Amino acid sequence: MDNSAIADNFSLLSKLMDIHGENSFKTKTYSIAAFNIDKLPLQLKDTPRENLFSIQGIGKSVGEKVIKMLDQGHLDILDDYIALTPPGVIEMLNVKGIGPKKIHTIWKEMGLESLGELLYACNENRLTLFKGFGEKTQLNVQEAIEYYLLNQGSFLFAQLEEIFPQIDNYLKKLFSAEKVSVTGAYRRQDLTIDEMEFIVLEKNETIKPKFLTAQPPELLEEKENSLLYKLKNGLKLRLYSGIGNRAEQLFLTTGSTDFINAFKKEFATVADATDPVEDERIFSAANIQYIPPCMRETAAVIEQAKARNLPVLIQPNDVKAVIHNHSNWSDGVNTIEEMAKDCIQKGFQYLVISDHSKSATYAKGLSEERIREQHRYINELNNQLAPFKIFKSIECDILNDGSLDYTNDVLATFDLVIASVHSNLKMTQDKAMARLLTAIANPYVTILGHMTGRLLLSRKGYPLDHKKIIDSCAENKVVIEINAHPRRLDMDWRWISYATEKNVLVSIDPDAHSLEGFNDIKYGVLAAQKGGLTKQQNLSSFSLPQFEQYLSNRKKEKGI
Ligand SMILES: [Zn+2]
Ligand SMILES: [Zn+2]
Repeated sequence: MDNSAIADNFSLLSKLMDIHGENSFKTKTYSIAAFNIDKLPLQLKDTPRENLFSIQGIGKSVGEKVIKMLDQGHLDILDDYIALTPPGVIEMLNVKGIGPKKIHTIWKEMGLESLGELLYACNENRLTLFKGFGEKTQLNVQEAIEYYLLNQGSFLFAQLEEIFPQIDNYLKKLFSAEKVSVTGAYRRQDLTIDEMEFIVLEKNETIKPKFLTAQPPELLEEKENSLLYKLKNGLKLRLYSGIGNRAEQLFLTTGSTDFINAFKKEFATVADATDPVEDERIFSAANIQYIPPCMRETAAVIEQAKARNLPVLIQPNDVKAVIHNHSNWSDGVNTIEEMAKDCIQKGFQYLVISDHSKSATYAKGLSEERIREQHRYINELNNQLAPFKIFKSIECDILNDGSLDYTNDVLATFDLVIASVHSNLKMTQDKAMARLLTAIANPYVTILGHMTGRLLLSRKGYPLDHKKIIDSCAENKVVIEINAHPRRLDMDWRWISYATEKNVLVSIDPDAHSLEGFNDIKYGVLAAQKGGLTKQQNLSSFSLPQFEQYLSNRKKEKGI
């Protein structure tokens, strides 16, 4: 059992105890343990038992439970709480905005045991009769449940990428490699995916019996040329069956409906039966540029391909820098030195440290004094590590009125400033626009961080007029981040072409809170490819001299 599984168990234990109304002093111990264990640099399973108890935050009770989990693979007390709680009540924990204390009231006082019941109670306005549930809370709960239910069975691209090889290998083993190819949303690198789609060149009658293993997936739907299964993890697996031309099938099942309809209006989609396995030939037969699968979303891209005007897409190794990172000075795990050395080892040219600003107290945001200290420390590191360079930055909170979290004198001490909204995310569009536009107009803001605050599959972002925000970034020479965390990917790729038309730079940034977080850069690049981004349009692809030049030119222009 690794640290994150142990931490998950403690976190669930603490929540279940809260739901049961146990002493909050006790439940807090476990939630703090979960938080600490998740951030430990060492694996507990590799730590000698006698050293466990000297780890900060692991006292007697927590330590003993860790040992039980390591020895037995589970935790009795957690199993007991799970057995004592209706599954529908546990499921409520998945809904944003309903914490364990509220679930306690919902279950014990309102007598509701499932999300369906709870949603119905919201519709009937019953929640407002209880303490702690105003009309606003009730509306939030209702929207959160609706959103959760809507996204059930959906997965982030990054989650599926992890299990993709397993499914792919399994199908290839069952039906031979030449007959199997991945297609659909996964092949298009969509950010969230409802169905994993494959072509399997066999008849339904051949496919179905092969799935009758010990744990057969559930067959949800059967059509003449497709089978839809549901796997144990909730993922839907669609198999396009039939014995046809593979290239043609691949083409027809890869593009979005808009794309395919637009294509069919002008061109044939029949490929030579002797075609290679991929679908390139369909484009060459149409005498247009090959459109990579990730871009087969809109009709507009076909026009670009006709004009032989498709961009040369950015690739993961075109990112030369790691911009937007949190060290252990705020809520990150690693020291700045560890992050810098890891960057050097991975071949990056520079690192931008942007810890949280002072209002983000939950994330140990930096006071003015800590900023001065951190800058001294970065200077020392830069002396040691040259020619590698660490840039001094901050992820500065955009406050409620759009002002920034420090005075201009303090902001002037950074090489660059990333401005992001972290508080009061529930805003009307007017409020959100006013807040962002004020921040963008601040001459010290270099990059606008995660533009909408969305969390894919769990939180919609605040509403924005994207065009106006992008126009204002163009006017104020503010770079727009593509936050590469697989749950954010914010700004959305659909706005990239408008931004680049307006000559706004974007920056693919990992928002890393640990060394592993650097790996997320790839997801930012995959999302950006969908929007047709080139490396020239991406700030984090700038070489170190280009980046320095960019920052100094910008400061000159702004007179700061
Ligand atoms: Zn942030
Ligand atoms: Zn951040």
